[in-house]
Parts: sequence; structure tokens; C-alpha cells
Amino acid sequence: MPVKAKMMGLCTMNEVNITKYNKEPGHDIVFFGEASVKKGYYFVDGDENFYHFIGKNSVYSMLELLHPDDIKGFLETIEQLSEGEQCAIVRMKCDNNQYRYLYMTIRLNGRMYDSFASFTFDFCDIMEIKDRYAVYKHLVKKYRGFMSLSSLLFFEYTFENDEFKIYHYVNVKSCPLLTKRLDDIRDEVEESSQLSIKSKAEFDLFYDFLKKGTDRFHTQLDARVLIPDEEETIQYQIKGSTMYRKSQKSMVIGIINVCGKKEKKESYYLTEGALDPGTGLFNKRAINEYAVEKIQECEQENKSFYLAVVDIDDFKKVNDTYGHMFGDEVISKVSEIMRNVLDVRGIVGRFGGDEFMIVIENVETEEALRRILKTICKHIMWEYESLQDKLMITTSWGIAKYPTEGVNYEELFEKADKALYIAKAKGKNRVIIYDEKKHGNFKQDGNDSRDSGIRMIASDEKKASVMMELVVSLYQKGKEALPHVMETMCAYFDMDGVAIYLGEEMKRGFSYGKYVNPIEEFPQILNEQYLERFDEQGIYDESNLQRVESNFPDIYHLYELQEIGKFIQCISLKHDTVKAVVSFDFFNRYPKIGVVDMGMIKIVGRMMAEVAAKCEI
Ligand code: GH3
Ligand code: MG
Repeated sequence: MPVKAKMMGLCTMNEVNITKYNKEPGHDIVFFGEASVKKGYYFVDGDENFYHFIGKNSVYSMLELLHPDDIKGFLETIEQLSEGEQCAIVRMKCDNNQYRYLYMTIRLNGRMYDSFASFTFDFCDIMEIKDRYAVYKHLVKKYRGFMSLSSLLFFEYTFENDEFKIYHYVNVKSCPLLTKRLDDIRDEVEESSQLSIKSKAEFDLFYDFLKKGTDRFHTQLDARVLIPDEEETIQYQIKGSTMYRKSQKSMVIGIINVCGKKEKKESYYLTEGALDPGTGLFNKRAINEYAVEKIQECEQENKSFYLAVVDIDDFKKVNDTYGHMFGDEVISKVSEIMRNVLDVRGIVGRFGGDEFMIVIENVETEEALRRILKTICKHIMWEYESLQDKLMITTSWGIAKYPTEGVNYEELFEKADKALYIAKAKGKNRVIIYDEKKHGNFKQDGNDSRDSGIRMIASDEKKASVMMELVVSLYQKGKEALPHVMETMCAYFDMDGVAIYLGEEMKRGFSYGKYVNPIEEFPQILNEQYLERFDEQGIYDESNLQRVESNFPDIYHLYELQEIGKFIQCISLKHDTVKAVVSFDFFNRYPKIGVVDMGMIKIVGRMMAEVAAKCEI
């Protein structure tokens, strides 16, 4: 089989490297096509692409053209067509007898040929998908670029759901101005007392163009027909045309030229002066204004968005180490990466220096947001990976969500900024999404001296003095102090839980935090190799649970049940016997702990372990 296969230029499913089949010199690869098949699996009809693909082989039965190994599976697929459309991947010979991998969707077309149920399939060449995707993505970007440069408005009407939309383009991103059902607009126009008979008649004509899917039309409208608070003098000059999908009218698209506009205040961010010269991003005023408009829009449409403030970490050091010019280059590269990854999901502005503000839209969940931001952070680090010995280029992010964390710009910005502050204080290179439950309502915090949330990370001095109090109280009160110490440690270092295991059975003696499946007895922790993980100070700091998984699967299983993503453990040994283990745990996350924080955690953690070791169990 392999010898024959090579001779025919055929790729087999078990061949991994298919480079040589990917681009056949001189062969013009057809990516997409459609054809129908009659009795005997002969082709009865096809589109131009299909005949281009198949060439002289169109006279053969499809079964002669399919790769012999794929025929059985293909026929089984055909048998299931009565249940509805089926999908298949097959190899089929094209014009030059080269087999190509095709992804097909196959459906019955309702015709019978000599009691054979004819079917239609469309196909794409899977080896081409990646390249085509890149080409189309680039094209879409190009057209969005053109559209952003235009002062026209754009509209589209979709037959399937009667939805009519108007939008304009800003920074390669569409900004909606109206989204409504066309029939609802018609009802409003009919009932309007504001519009003249002429304006209503113009709308009726426009309505007909859309509903009928007129191929090309040119008309005009009183702007108030579509946007009731527009001024009376404004007229829309409209050009439209209908688009088809699979020979069916799918939508009407068009452009609107706004005429007779009075000296209406244009948004600053749409002006040429709104761009930061160094990066081409919105400048501070523009991104502020854009965020304010976004809030108004989301309020009206009951939508949400995220406001992010971003700052490059230790940028002064970058400048000092590599020079100001290099610093400038880093700023532009970071801007470019943020803009590229976010694409149409956000608008990036430069606040000044190494600080940015971003309005992130169309991202539904926090999980999706974190995925996007992780991509950006990794790209930035990777870009300057070669510098790593000396410096890493990283960023810190503070994020607040509208409307959960604030309904006006000031409040939202303040929270995003506080979140950035927390990110910096926790050791930089991280994303903090502001959460009032976790970080406290700083507005109400006032001068509360029993600091909660955000204020706790205010300064290393403050933390050091609180830690000192904890040590003293452990020393004076012994185990009585443990509950308060555990709570304070969680609050100050953003830990999710603390558990203290004691005695020969390593029973859970004390714990704080909401563990999903608390480990009540943990003798597995006494495994000798596991104990070797503790350093000479009695500390084991683990952020990579995969390491635990491969070396201590039973222990890993218990951590997994407790949903622990990272831990710092402190041990108390007496005469080589483990008396107590204090475990500071983070659930399903792996935050980096700064050196100073780590020092404090070690001191208090060891002291807790010593105090706990004295408890009777
Ligand atoms: P942190 O991690 O706390 O953010 O520390 P940092 O060193 O980044 O401190 P900060 O953000 O306060 O400092 C920003 C520095 O960026 C200060 C200034 O010297 C430098 N800077 C501001 N604008 C530019 C610029 O356009 N180009 C360059 N190369 N440097 C700039
Ligand atoms: Mg900085």
C-alpha cells in the first residue's frame, strides 16, 4: 500500500507529515465547492469551483475517486442522510489525480434518480483552511480599516430575524447606533405625530426595498424615522444592495450619508487630534471620553463592559538598563500586542508614560476575559524573553466591571485603579479584577482602622506591624490566638484558606476558609520524599501542582478534591518527628507572592506551626 500510495501521490491517514501533499506545484487548489450526485454516484451537477477541482475526473463515479480506505465510511455516512445533514472527512482525487482531504457536509436534495435518493455535498479542502482563514482575517481587517476612515454610517437588515442595525466604525471596531426589528420601526413611524406624510412615504419605500431585498437601491429618509431624537433638518442619503447566501437572499447592506447636519458637536475621539503620536492609540482625553460614552450606551442597552488600567512593571528599570529609546520601543510593542489581541473586543488608550486604559467589550465572562489578558501578558513576556536574565517585561492590570462595580466613570476608574494598585502591591505581573466582596468598598471604608480588603495591602510597613502583633499574640496566647491569626493571614495575603494538621494522624486541628472537601486526616503528608520538599527553614512553597501530581499522586488527589491551586506549607519538627503542618492555601489559582510578603508569611507560618505543635490532639 505505501509504495502504491506514493506513486499516486496519495496521502494516507496514518501519515503525519503531509507537507509534500500540501502544495502541489502548478496545481491551482480549489478551496470550496458544491456538487450533487445521482445513481451510481455519478456527478449530476456542480458549481464552477467543483468542476475546477475535479476537472476531467468529473466523468467518474464518486466511488472511483474516493480513496479506497474511505469508501466504506462514506457509504455508511450516506445511509444516515435520511436522519438529516451529515459531515465527513474523505480523501478524493482532484483534476491531477492528487488526493486531497475534503471536509464535506452532505444532505439529501429531494430528487430521485431511478429510485436513488440524490444528495448534494459541499466541501472545503482542509489543508487550505489555515491559510484561507489568515487571508480572510486580513481582508476583514483591511475593510474595517477602510470603514474606520469613512464618515459614513453603515446599515444592515437581516431577513431571518427582521433585525435592522445602523453603526459606524471607530478604530476598526463597529459601534452600534441602532438595533431594532424593522416591523417595530414601521409601527413607530405609523404612529408618529412628529413625522410628515412625505417622511412616512419615504420610509414606506425604504421598508419595501428592505423587505423585498431589492438588488440595488438609492433613496433618502428623514433621519428622525430611524433615530427619533435626530434634528429635523437631517436627511439620510441611502444606498443599499442585497446579499445572497447559498442562492438565498440573506441580508440587505448599505451606507448612509448624513446630510444637513448642523454644527453638531463631534465626539473628540473621532477627531484626528485624539491619537497618541507615539503609539497611534487613543490619547487620555479620547479614551476617557470613549469610556464615558460606553457607560451611557451600556446603561441604555442594559449591557456590561470592563474598564482596565494597565501599567508596565518596573519600567524605570527598563529605561535605566537599556535606555530611553528602547523604553519607547517597549511602549509601542506593548500597545501593538494589546491592540492586536483585543482586536474588536476593546479600545486601547494611552494614559501617558507606561500607563494604559482599555475599554473591553463583547467579553461575556470573567473566564473569557482572563483568557484574553493571559494571552496579552504571555505575548508581551515572550516578545522580550531574550532579556530575561536581566529583566522581564511584564504588566500589571486593574479591572472593574460596569455596572457591577460602578455606574459612573469616576467610580469605575477609581476601582480599576485600586485594583491596579493591589496588583502592584501583590508583586506585579498579574491581573486583579476588582471585587467588592474581596477588596472591600473603599468608599465606605473611610478611616476604619480595622482595615479590610484593599487597605490591607497599603504598605509593607503596615503589614509588618500587623505581622508583629500576630507573632506577639501567638507567643502570649498560644493556640487561643490561632483563629484570629489565620483570619488575618488570609485577609492580608489574599489567601483562600489555612489548615493546620496535627499529631501522628495529621488530623485537621484548625482551619479557616471555605474548603470544598476538607481533608480531615492527612497522614500521607508524612511521606519521606514529600517532607524533603521542605527547605531547611521548614517551608514548602508550591505553585505547580503538576509536580505534586507526578511525584505524589495520592496527595495530589486530596489537593485536587480541595481545589487547591497553590500552597505554602510550614512545618514544625521535634526530634525529627513532624508535629504540625500549617498549609496556606489558594483555591484554583496560583498568585505570585512578592519576596517581602513571602518573608512575612514564613515567619508567622513557622510560629503558627510551633504553637500548634504543642496542642494535644
Ligand atoms: P511600577 O512597576 O511600580 O510601575 O514601576 P515603574 O518603574 O514602571 O514606575 P512608573 O510606572 O511610576 O514609572 C514610569 C516611568 O516611565 C517613569 C518615566 O521615566 C518613564 N516614562 C514615561 N513616559 C515615557 C516614554 O514615553 N518613554 C520612555 N522610554 N519612558 C517613559
Ligand atoms: Mg510602571
